Amino acid sequence: MEQPDWHGPLTEAYEQATRFLTGLPSRPVGSGAGPDELRAALGGPLPDKGTDAREVIARLAAAADAGIVASPSGRFFGFVIGGATPAALAADWLTATWDQNAGLYAAGPSAAVVEEVAGGWLRDLFGLPAHTSVGFVTGAQMSHVTALAAARHEVLRRAGWDVEAGGLHGAPRITVVAGADRHSTIDRALRFLGIGTAALVPVDVDDQGRMQPDALRTALDDIDGPVIVCAQLGNVNTGACDPIAAICDIAHASGAWVHVDGAFGLWAAASSRHRHLVTGVDRADSWTTDAHKWLNVPYDSGLVFCAHPQAHRAAMGVRAAYLVHAGGNERDALDHNPEFSRRARGFPVYAALRTLGRNGVEALIDRTCELATRFATHMGDAVLNEVVLNQVLLTFGPQTFDLITRVREEGTCWVSGTTWQGSPAMRFSVSNHTTDESDIDRAAEVILRLATS
Ligand SMILES: *Cc1c(COP(=O)(O)O)cnc(C)c1O
Repeated sequence: MEQPDWHGPLTEAYEQATRFLTGLPSRPVGSGAGPDELRAALGGPLPDKGTDAREVIARLAAAADAGIVASPSGRFFGFVIGGATPAALAADWLTATWDQNAGLYAAGPSAAVVEEVAGGWLRDLFGLPAHTSVGFVTGAQMSHVTALAAARHEVLRRAGWDVEAGGLHGAPRITVVAGADRHSTIDRALRFLGIGTAALVPVDVDDQGRMQPDALRTALDDIDGPVIVCAQLGNVNTGACDPIAAICDIAHASGAWVHVDGAFGLWAAASSRHRHLVTGVDRADSWTTDAHKWLNVPYDSGLVFCAHPQAHRAAMGVRAAYLVHAGGNERDALDHNPEFSRRARGFPVYAALRTLGRNGVEALIDRTCELATRFATHMGDAVLNEVVLNQVLLTFGPQTFDLITRVREEGTCWVSGTTWQGSPAMRFSVSNHTTDESDIDRAAEVILRLATS
């Protein structure tokens, strides 16, 4: 068969990509298009006849453009969304090009080894125990599913129950204790795992959303049977970190497993200036974090760490007669994550870490936190939280949600909203590697101007 034309569509993609990326500073950050406009541009019946690949790529880029949110821009401050560093993006292109099935070592030896290496670097960066096992998943959501499956295995094993064989029918009832202001992905993971949200016991939090250790102790005193405690580093609204050392002490004294949701907050461990927020984190049993947020790796990229490699493998491991399993010292990724066939997620994480180095990661964390503080200084009395990391929470009274809409329409920057302690609030997250002082100052100027007009 004649070789396909790789050059045409890939050249088009390269040109479209560099045009988009270099245009980010001058592009309105929000999407201007509505769903009907996008359906008209992209829709219609599937044509009978095919189209030249390069032309398809060019037309796709032109038609999608109006509905692309410039979330990789330095003035996108919504949710907690990082951009992509050049090295991570380039490695992601190669990941797609090599198209490895990174489930098995045999189908992608370099993909497997790169996950091992990058996983080890991250373990060091976060100060986690050397024996900690690592899995590369799609995001914090599936990291929770993986870690809580390992936790479910271990707390039930200690209670004499084999959950992999017996499921949860007739099993001792697991209780999950978590801060009242936990992220919704914890609840969702419990639904997926058959533990259920009714198994949740919420613990009181302080005015920043931090779990109160005394309330945790009281809650645990009232519980019999297997317990998992979910702590949080980096409250999605305030950035606040639970007092993790105290939580580990209290939870371990009653035999509970401690899982940490550190989707972005775990990165504080990589900075000497911010590490004090996560002191004691190495004593937990499992950890969740994202690479697609603060490390600025393209979507999707999350990580799971487990201090009990056997529980991790018992929960995730799989064997089938037709698969070629790693024998000696090779590592099969499918024993560490819920996917079977999967993308080689390690390559972009590896490239991001190798390009930044330990100092570069620390500088990225410190710089974005400093910029958040700079923004908070501009905003004065509107700030609702203690700015400890990269999150700023703001109120503009009853007009807050309306202001968020107007800020997005103006186009200089993009912010998102939330309800904080019963009132509407604006969220401002500095997570992008390109954000600088002028981005912050311009965003502050626009928000303050619109708030008073
Ligand atoms: C973003 C976030 C999540 C969910 O992460 P995904 O990568 O989107 O699955 C969970 N917990 C916290 C604290 C977060 O900030």
